[in-house]
Amino acid sequence: MDCLFCKIVNQEIPADILYEDDLVIAFSDINPQAPFHCLVIPKKHISTLNDITEQDRELVGHMVTTAGKIAADKGFAQEGYRTVFNCNSHGGQTVYHIHLHVLGGKPLGWPPY
Ligand code: C5P
Repeated sequence: MDCLFCKIVNQEIPADILYEDDLVIAFSDINPQAPFHCLVIPKKHISTLNDITEQDRELVGHMVTTAGKIAADKGFAQEGYRTVFNCNSHGGQTVYHIHLHVLGGKPLGWPPY
């Protein structure tokens, strides 16, 4: 399978890895949209949010708790941050391996249009 993020998981292409365990890795986004911007991804390949099944509940929950721990470690949990899953073209998804954006370090604009 020719998946960019599977290649990061398999260390076939480099990334600035911030966190890793059996289920997920987190790495700095190469095109940051905030002072802090990383992606939390499952090691298992799942193309889009539409492909998540009941069996993935624990995995997706672990992605969210990992995002929260990273925010706390980086010291911006209290001031706040944003997590985003983009899904398919209208959602702005460009890499088809699910990823949770974690953005922080400044007040973020809303809504996103
Ligand atoms: O949600 P979306 O699919 O648009 O996000 C993909 C993200 O992956 C982008 O923010 C892009 O900068 C990031 N990316 C990365 N490393 C790569 C390729 C893409 O961090 N090698």
